[in-house]
Amino acid sequence: MSTDSAVFASVTDVIIIGGGPAGMSAALVLGRARRSVLVIDEALPRHRVTRESHGFLTRDGVAPAELRKAAREQIAAYPGVAFIEDSAVEAEGVDGDFRVTTAGGTIYRSRKLLFAAGMKDLPMDLEGLEDVYGKSAYVCPYCDGWEMQDRPIAVIAGKHTLHLTRTVAGWTDDVAVFMNGTDLPEEDRAQIQSRGIPIYEKPIARIESEKGETSAIVLSDGTKIARTAVFFAPRLAPGSELPAQFGCAVMESGAMIVDETGRSNVPGVFGAGDGASQKYQVAAAVAAGSAAGAGINFELLDLDWERKAEEAAIL
Ligand SMILES: Cc1cc2nc3c(=O)[nH]c(=O)nc-3n(C[C@H](O)[C@H](O)[C@H](O)COP(=O)(O)OP(=O)(O)OC[C@H]3O[C@@H](n4cnc5c(N)ncnc54)[C@H](O)[C@@H]3O)c2cc1C
Repeated sequence: MSTDSAVFASVTDVIIIGGGPAGMSAALVLGRARRSVLVIDEALPRHRVTRESHGFLTRDGVAPAELRKAAREQIAAYPGVAFIEDSAVEAEGVDGDFRVTTAGGTIYRSRKLLFAAGMKDLPMDLEGLEDVYGKSAYVCPYCDGWEMQDRPIAVIAGKHTLHLTRTVAGWTDDVAVFMNGTDLPEEDRAQIQSRGIPIYEKPIARIESEKGETSAIVLSDGTKIARTAVFFAPRLAPGSELPAQFGCAVMESGAMIVDETGRSNVPGVFGAGDGASQKYQVAAAVAAGSAAGAGINFELLDLDWERKAEEAAIL
C-alpha cells in the first residue's frame, strides 16, 4: 500500500472494479438489495470502438455509450451505489476487510470484492486494422454478422481459423481466408478449400479503407483483393492483472475461474463478465454480473443473519 494514499473512512459492503455491463449489472442487483456499493471504473469498456451493440434483448442496435448512460440512470435510483472514475491499481486484504487503492491515491475499503474488469485488446500489428475496427472489422459474427451479411468478407487467420471461417460463412457466400503468416492444419485447409473458399497465403501488407469502411486487403506482393468487411480473432489480455495478483485462479486467457455465482477460489472475491468467462457478449456479461451480485448478497445475508442471532442472544 502506498504511504501517501488517503484512506477512505467508510467501509462499503462491496467494491466493484469495472463498470461495464457486468459490473453495472451486479451494482443494480446489490443496490436493490440495499447494499452499499462502490464501482471503480476506468470507463474503457471493450465495445467502445463499435458504433452499435447488437443482440442484447430490448437494446439491439444501441450505441455502447447509450447503453451505459441508460444503465447509470437506472442505477441512480438506488442511493447505496456510488461510482468513481479511476483506476484500481492495488487490491489486498481478506474476506470482510478488503482495501483497494486507486491511481488517484485513495484507498477504499469493503467487505466483499468483485472484479468485473473485462478483457482488453492488445495492440494490433496489422496496418490499417485499427482504422476499421468496430466499423467494418469485427471479432464476433453473432454481434455484427447481420450488418455485414452478403458482403465480400475477409477472415484473417489466427486462432481457430476453421471455426471462424465456417461461422462467417453462415452470413455470406463470399468469404476469403488470409493466412497472414500463420499455419493451418492440412485437414482444416482441405475443409475450407472444398467449400470453394479461397485461401491467400502471402502476408498482408495493409488493409485499405476510407472512413472506417474496408475496401481491400493488400498482400505483401502488391496483390489487392476487394473486401468490404473483416473478421479476425483478436489478441486479448485481462482488463486487470489484480485478480491474478490476488491469487485468484485463472484460465489460459487470464480470465478468472469462478463458479456460477461468480465466486472465485479466494474467499470473498468474485468475478463476472468477459474477465471471468469466455463468452464475450453483453448479455452474458449482464447475466454473470447479476448472478455475482446475488452471490455476494447471499454471503452478506449469511453474515447478517448470524449477527442478528448473536444480538438477540445478548438481549
Ligand atoms: C468491436 C467489438 C464489438 C462488440 N460488439 C458487441 C455486440 O454487438 N454485442 C455484444 O453482446 N457484445 C459485443 N462485444 C463484446 C462486449 O463488448 C463485451 O462482451 C462486454 O463489454 C463485456 O462486458 P464486461 O463488463 O465484462 O467488460 P467491459 O465492457 O470491457 O468493461 C470493463 C470495465 O472495467 C474497467 N476496468 C478495467 N480494469 C480496471 C481497473 N483496474 N480499475 C478500474 N476499472 C477497470 C474498464 O475500463 C471497463 O470500463 C463487442 C466487442 C468488441 C471488441
